Amino acid sequence: MTIKLIQAKSILNQSKAFQSYTLNPYSGCPHGCVYCYNLQFIQQFKPDQKWGQFMEVKINAPEVLEKEVVRKPKNEVFFSTITDAYNPLEQKYQITQKCLKILLEHQWPVNILTKSDLVLRDLELIKSFKQKEVGFSLINLDPKIAKILEPGASLPEKKLLALQTLHQAGIPTYTFIGPIIPYLTDLPLIFKNLVGKVDKVLLDTFNTAPANWQNFKNALEPNFPELIPKCQELLFQKRRIYENNLHQEILKLSQQFHLPIKICF
Ligand code: SF4
Repeated sequence: MTIKLIQAKSILNQSKAFQSYTLNPYSGCPHGCVYCYNLQFIQQFKPDQKWGQFMEVKINAPEVLEKEVVRKPKNEVFFSTITDAYNPLEQKYQITQKCLKILLEHQWPVNILTKSDLVLRDLELIKSFKQKEVGFSLINLDPKIAKILEPGASLPEKKLLALQTLHQAGIPTYTFIGPIIPYLTDLPLIFKNLVGKVDKVLLDTFNTAPANWQNFKNALEPNFPELIPKCQELLFQKRRIYENNLHQEILKLSQQFHLPIKICF
Protein backbone atom coordinates (compact mmCIF):
# COMPACT_ATOMS: atom_id res chain seq x y z
CA MET A 1 0.00 0.00 0.00
CA THR A 2 1.42 3.38 -0.97
CA ILE A 3 0.41 6.37 1.15
CA LYS A 4 0.83 9.86 -0.26
CA LEU A 5 0.09 13.15 1.47
CA ILE A 6 -1.47 15.49 -1.06
CA GLN A 7 -2.73 19.07 -1.19
CA ALA A 8 -6.38 19.34 -2.26
CA LYS A 9 -7.45 22.32 -4.35
CA SER A 10 -11.09 22.02 -3.26
CA ILE A 11 -12.88 19.73 -0.84
CA LEU A 12 -16.65 20.34 -1.14
CA ASN A 13 -17.85 18.92 -4.43
CA GLN A 14 -21.40 19.45 -5.60
CA SER A 15 -22.90 16.06 -6.40
CA LYS A 16 -25.92 15.64 -8.65
CA ALA A 17 -26.42 12.05 -7.54
CA PHE A 18 -26.64 12.94 -3.84
CA GLN A 19 -28.11 16.46 -4.19
CA SER A 20 -25.53 17.50 -1.64
CA TYR A 21 -21.83 18.14 -1.41
CA THR A 22 -19.54 15.16 -1.24
CA LEU A 23 -16.46 15.37 0.93
CA ASN A 24 -13.65 12.84 0.51
CA PRO A 25 -10.93 13.43 3.12
CA TYR A 26 -8.91 10.66 1.47
CA SER A 27 -8.70 9.18 -1.98
CA GLY A 28 -8.46 5.41 -2.21
CA CYS A 29 -9.83 2.82 0.18
CA PRO A 30 -8.16 -0.06 1.97
CA HIS A 31 -11.43 -1.91 2.69
CA GLY A 32 -11.02 -3.74 -0.63
CA CYS A 33 -14.70 -4.50 -1.27
CA VAL A 34 -14.83 -6.85 -4.23
CA TYR A 35 -17.85 -5.06 -5.72
CA CYS A 36 -16.52 -1.48 -5.28
CA TYR A 37 -17.89 0.73 -8.05
CA ASN A 38 -14.79 2.94 -7.84
CA LEU A 39 -12.84 0.24 -9.71
CA GLN A 40 -14.28 1.39 -13.01
CA PHE A 41 -13.26 5.04 -12.40
CA ILE A 42 -9.77 4.16 -11.23
CA GLN A 43 -9.14 2.14 -14.39
CA GLN A 44 -10.15 5.23 -16.35
CA PHE A 45 -8.45 8.02 -14.36
CA LYS A 46 -5.53 6.30 -12.62
CA PRO A 47 -4.72 3.36 -14.91
CA ASP A 48 -1.30 2.88 -13.31
CA GLN A 49 -2.81 2.46 -9.83
CA LYS A 50 -4.49 -0.63 -8.36
CA TRP A 51 -7.63 0.09 -6.33
CA GLY A 52 -7.06 -0.76 -2.66
CA GLN A 53 -3.28 -0.47 -3.04
CA PHE A 54 -2.91 3.30 -2.74
CA MET A 55 -4.12 5.99 -0.37
CA GLU A 56 -3.93 9.74 -0.76
CA VAL A 57 -4.37 11.78 2.40
CA LYS A 58 -5.76 15.26 1.70
CA ILE A 59 -3.63 16.75 4.38
CA ASN A 60 -4.80 20.35 3.87
CA ALA A 61 -8.53 19.45 3.66
CA PRO A 62 -9.47 21.26 6.92
CA GLU A 63 -7.83 24.52 5.77
CA VAL A 64 -9.54 24.32 2.37
CA LEU A 65 -12.87 23.53 4.03
CA GLU A 66 -12.55 26.54 6.39
CA LYS A 67 -12.51 28.78 3.31
CA GLU A 68 -15.22 26.92 1.39
CA VAL A 69 -17.85 26.91 4.17
CA VAL A 70 -17.93 30.70 4.18
CA ARG A 71 -17.88 30.97 0.39
CA LYS A 72 -20.30 28.25 -0.75
CA PRO A 73 -24.06 27.99 -0.10
CA LYS A 74 -24.93 25.82 2.89
CA ASN A 75 -26.04 22.30 2.00
CA GLU A 76 -25.74 18.76 3.33
CA VAL A 77 -22.25 17.26 3.20
CA PHE A 78 -22.02 13.57 2.36
CA PHE A 79 -18.97 11.57 3.53
CA SER A 80 -17.73 9.83 1.28
CA THR A 81 -17.72 8.47 -2.28
CA ILE A 82 -14.14 7.59 -3.21
CA THR A 83 -13.01 6.42 0.20
CA ASP A 84 -14.38 5.47 3.61
CA ALA A 85 -14.02 8.55 5.80
CA TYR A 86 -13.30 6.17 8.72
CA ASN A 87 -10.66 4.05 7.01
CA PRO A 88 -7.74 3.04 9.29
CA LEU A 89 -5.62 6.08 8.28
CA GLU A 90 -8.23 8.30 9.93
CA GLN A 91 -6.95 7.06 13.29
CA LYS A 92 -3.61 8.73 12.59
CA TYR A 93 -4.49 11.75 10.42
CA GLN A 94 -7.96 12.64 11.79
CA ILE A 95 -8.85 14.58 8.63
CA THR A 96 -12.50 13.50 8.86
CA GLN A 97 -12.72 14.58 12.48
CA LYS A 98 -11.13 17.96 11.76
CA CYS A 99 -13.55 18.55 8.86
CA LEU A 100 -16.51 17.58 11.04
CA LYS A 101 -15.45 20.11 13.68
CA ILE A 102 -15.44 22.87 11.05
CA LEU A 103 -18.84 21.85 9.68
CA LEU A 104 -20.22 21.75 13.22
CA GLU A 105 -19.02 25.29 13.91
CA HIS A 106 -21.10 26.42 10.92
CA GLN A 107 -23.91 23.88 11.58
CA TRP A 108 -23.87 22.36 8.12
CA PRO A 109 -25.94 19.14 7.88
CA VAL A 110 -23.85 15.96 7.56
CA ASN A 111 -24.51 12.47 6.27
CA ILE A 112 -21.83 9.83 6.89
CA LEU A 113 -21.87 6.43 5.20
CA THR A 114 -19.21 4.06 6.48
CA LYS A 115 -18.23 0.44 6.96
CA SER A 116 -16.10 1.07 10.02
CA ASP A 117 -17.03 1.30 13.67
CA LEU A 118 -14.24 3.86 14.06
CA VAL A 119 -17.10 6.33 13.51
CA LEU A 120 -18.03 5.74 17.18
CA ARG A 121 -14.91 7.71 18.16
CA ASP A 122 -16.75 10.82 16.90
CA LEU A 123 -20.17 9.99 18.35
CA GLU A 124 -20.34 13.03 20.63
CA LEU A 125 -19.16 15.31 17.86
CA ILE A 126 -21.77 13.96 15.40
CA LYS A 127 -24.46 14.15 18.08
CA SER A 128 -23.88 17.91 18.38
CA PHE A 129 -25.04 18.57 14.80
CA LYS A 130 -28.65 19.73 14.42
CA GLN A 131 -29.01 17.73 11.19
CA LYS A 132 -27.03 14.53 10.90
CA GLU A 133 -27.35 10.96 9.67
CA VAL A 134 -25.00 8.01 9.91
CA GLY A 135 -25.35 4.94 7.73
CA PHE A 136 -23.57 1.61 7.57
CA SER A 137 -23.29 -0.46 4.41
CA LEU A 138 -24.25 -4.04 5.15
CA ILE A 139 -24.64 -6.82 2.63
CA ASN A 140 -24.19 -10.01 4.62
CA LEU A 141 -24.24 -11.04 8.27
CA ASP A 142 -21.91 -14.03 8.05
CA PRO A 143 -18.41 -12.94 9.17
CA LYS A 144 -16.64 -15.44 6.90
CA ILE A 145 -18.51 -14.28 3.80
CA ALA A 146 -18.14 -10.63 4.81
CA LYS A 147 -14.36 -11.12 5.05
CA ILE A 148 -14.33 -12.37 1.46
CA LEU A 149 -16.54 -9.60 0.10
CA GLU A 150 -15.20 -6.61 2.05
CA PRO A 151 -11.99 -7.73 3.77
CA GLY A 152 -11.03 -4.42 5.42
CA ALA A 153 -14.44 -3.41 6.76
CA SER A 154 -15.68 -3.92 10.30
CA LEU A 155 -17.35 -7.31 10.76
CA PRO A 156 -21.16 -7.38 10.45
CA GLU A 157 -21.71 -7.83 14.18
CA LYS A 158 -19.61 -4.73 14.91
CA LYS A 159 -21.53 -2.76 12.29
CA LEU A 160 -24.83 -3.73 13.92
CA LEU A 161 -23.52 -2.83 17.36
CA ALA A 162 -22.29 0.53 16.10
CA LEU A 163 -25.67 1.24 14.50
CA GLN A 164 -27.40 0.39 17.75
CA THR A 165 -25.06 2.65 19.75
CA LEU A 166 -25.57 5.56 17.35
CA HIS A 167 -29.34 5.02 17.25
CA GLN A 168 -29.59 4.89 21.03
CA ALA A 169 -27.57 8.11 21.21
CA GLY A 170 -30.35 9.79 19.19
CA ILE A 171 -28.45 10.00 15.90
CA PRO A 172 -30.65 9.16 12.88
CA THR A 173 -29.26 5.97 11.36
CA TYR A 174 -29.72 3.97 8.21
CA THR A 175 -28.35 0.91 6.51
CA PHE A 176 -27.39 0.77 2.88
CA ILE A 177 -27.86 -2.79 1.62
CA GLY A 178 -25.86 -2.37 -1.52
CA PRO A 179 -25.09 -4.04 -3.61
CA ILE A 180 -27.56 -6.81 -2.95
CA ILE A 181 -25.55 -9.88 -3.97
CA PRO A 182 -27.63 -12.73 -5.39
CA TYR A 183 -27.48 -15.82 -3.15
CA LEU A 184 -25.18 -14.09 -0.63
CA THR A 185 -27.35 -11.23 0.67
CA ASP A 186 -29.98 -12.64 2.99
CA LEU A 187 -32.49 -9.78 3.00
CA PRO A 188 -34.97 -11.24 5.55
CA LEU A 189 -32.18 -11.92 8.03
CA ILE A 190 -30.67 -8.46 7.61
CA PHE A 191 -34.06 -6.71 8.00
CA LYS A 192 -34.76 -8.75 11.14
CA ASN A 193 -31.44 -7.68 12.64
CA LEU A 194 -31.95 -4.00 11.81
CA VAL A 195 -35.13 -3.56 13.84
CA GLY A 196 -34.54 -1.01 16.60
CA LYS A 197 -31.19 0.03 15.15
CA VAL A 198 -32.04 2.08 12.06
CA ASP A 199 -34.63 4.59 10.90
CA LYS A 200 -34.57 3.49 7.28
CA VAL A 201 -33.05 1.06 4.82
CA LEU A 202 -31.64 1.95 1.40
CA LEU A 203 -31.13 -0.79 -1.15
CA ASP A 204 -29.38 -1.13 -4.47
CA THR A 205 -28.46 -3.90 -6.88
CA PHE A 206 -25.10 -4.83 -8.33
CA ASN A 207 -23.44 -2.43 -10.78
CA THR A 208 -22.13 -4.76 -13.49
CA ALA A 209 -19.70 -2.34 -15.11
CA PRO A 210 -16.98 -4.56 -16.67
CA ALA A 211 -14.29 -3.76 -14.06
CA ASN A 212 -16.68 -4.43 -11.16
CA TRP A 213 -18.03 -7.66 -12.58
CA GLN A 214 -14.55 -8.98 -13.35
CA ASN A 215 -13.27 -8.20 -9.86
CA PHE A 216 -16.35 -9.77 -8.30
CA LYS A 217 -15.94 -12.92 -10.40
CA ASN A 218 -12.27 -13.16 -9.37
CA ALA A 219 -13.34 -13.08 -5.72
CA LEU A 220 -16.08 -15.68 -6.19
CA GLU A 221 -13.86 -18.08 -8.14
CA PRO A 222 -11.91 -19.61 -5.22
CA ASN A 223 -14.78 -19.40 -2.74
CA PHE A 224 -18.12 -19.87 -4.49
CA PRO A 225 -17.37 -20.89 -8.11
CA GLU A 226 -20.85 -22.40 -8.47
CA LEU A 227 -22.37 -18.94 -7.94
CA ILE A 228 -20.68 -17.32 -10.95
CA PRO A 229 -23.03 -18.68 -13.65
CA LYS A 230 -26.02 -18.28 -11.34
CA CYS A 231 -25.22 -14.62 -10.60
CA GLN A 232 -24.48 -14.02 -14.25
CA GLU A 233 -27.90 -15.32 -15.22
CA LEU A 234 -29.73 -13.06 -12.74
CA LEU A 235 -27.62 -9.94 -13.22
CA PHE A 236 -27.43 -10.07 -17.01
CA GLN A 237 -29.92 -12.38 -18.77
CA LYS A 238 -32.79 -12.16 -16.26
CA ARG A 239 -32.04 -8.80 -14.68
CA ARG A 240 -35.50 -7.33 -15.18
CA ILE A 241 -37.34 -10.28 -13.64
CA TYR A 242 -34.76 -10.48 -10.86
CA GLU A 243 -35.18 -6.78 -9.98
CA ASN A 244 -38.97 -6.97 -10.13
CA ASN A 245 -38.92 -9.91 -7.73
CA LEU A 246 -36.54 -8.05 -5.45
CA HIS A 247 -38.90 -5.05 -5.37
CA GLN A 248 -41.74 -7.30 -4.23
CA GLU A 249 -39.62 -8.98 -1.59
CA ILE A 250 -38.33 -5.67 -0.24
CA LEU A 251 -41.81 -4.14 -0.01
CA LYS A 252 -43.01 -7.16 1.99
CA LEU A 253 -40.00 -7.00 4.33
CA SER A 254 -40.50 -3.28 4.87
CA GLN A 255 -44.09 -3.92 5.97
CA GLN A 256 -43.22 -6.96 8.05
CA PHE A 257 -40.47 -5.24 10.02
CA HIS A 258 -41.94 -1.71 9.93
CA LEU A 259 -38.79 -0.31 8.38
CA PRO A 260 -39.07 2.54 5.86
CA ILE A 261 -37.16 1.83 2.67
CA LYS A 262 -35.67 3.60 -0.29
CA ILE A 263 -35.11 1.39 -3.33
CA CYS A 264 -32.35 2.86 -5.50
CA PHE A 265 -32.83 0.67 -8.59
S1 SF4 B 1 -15.76 0.94 1.52
FE1 SF4 B 1 -16.70 1.84 -0.29
S2 SF4 B 1 -15.03 2.92 -1.29
FE2 SF4 B 1 -14.09 1.50 0.12
S3 SF4 B 1 -13.66 -0.32 -1.12
FE3 SF4 B 1 -15.65 -0.60 -0.10
S4 SF4 B 1 -17.17 0.09 -1.59
FE4 SF4 B 1 -15.17 0.89 -2.23
